[in-house]
Amino acid sequence: MSLKASSLRKSFGNFTVILDMEVAEGETLVLAGPSGSGKTTAINLIAGLAEPDSGVLSSNGEDISALPCWKRNISVVFQDLALFPHLDVGGNIAYGLKIRKMPKEERVKIVEEMLKLVRLPNYASRRIHTLSGGERQRVAIARSLALNPRALLLDEPFASLDTPLRMELRREFLAIRSKSKAPCIFVTHDREEAAMLGDRIALMRGGEIVETGTADRLFNSPETEFAKDFFSSGKKI
Ligand code: ADP
Ligand code: MG
Repeated sequence: MSLKASSLRKSFGNFTVILDMEVAEGETLVLAGPSGSGKTTAINLIAGLAEPDSGVLSSNGEDISALPCWKRNISVVFQDLALFPHLDVGGNIAYGLKIRKMPKEERVKIVEEMLKLVRLPNYASRRIHTLSGGERQRVAIARSLALNPRALLLDEPFASLDTPLRMELRREFLAIRSKSKAPCIFVTHDREEAAMLGDRIALMRGGEIVETGTADRLFNSPETEFAKDFFSSGKKI
């Protein structure tokens, strides 16, 4: 599995996002950059939530640009999770499977597998309002992985959480990622989060990726002034 955007373009007035990037199977690409640099637009284009003006998105070499979002099987986790409050944890995780008419026994099995993966076993019948913020995040990730997506996208999923919880969830995320093969794009404006979670980091400015590389390379020998400024505002890693 791999995901590739080739000159995927979207304009809003005089702001244009142009995406050229590739994410390999099992790889996490962090999309970093300041507010307004086009990160969320990039996620929307890849998920099919925004229609590109031009360009190609392909998965394993197959052009999926024309597929509507519900046929792409690309999962997105947003900051405001959008878990369904009227369903229990199991119902949330199984939601997409039910829509795909998967038989109940199979759904129950996948829910159990996913809950084990995010280390919330026996949570299937818990109500959403009884969960902590961190538990909700893990349920959202479990739900997004249940469909065995061709790619997993996360748009600043931990941004609204307090620091200790954010640290814990970053570690959790790494553990979960080690068991999932889907190419992943993780959006953050936090450079430490970028360094910890990304196999590579793509740094965005003004709608375009200005530099891509490992955290070590971007922190210690950036090629652009912008990357230098973005990453050098604190300790080296
Ligand atoms: P980021 O997620 O990096 O903060 P966004 O992708 O949300 O950046 O926004 C990038 C730019 O695109 C902003 O200037 C924003 O106002 C503009 N933009 C995003 N979505 C729309 C839209 N639906 N209509 C008009 N402008 C938009
Ligand atoms: Mg955003």
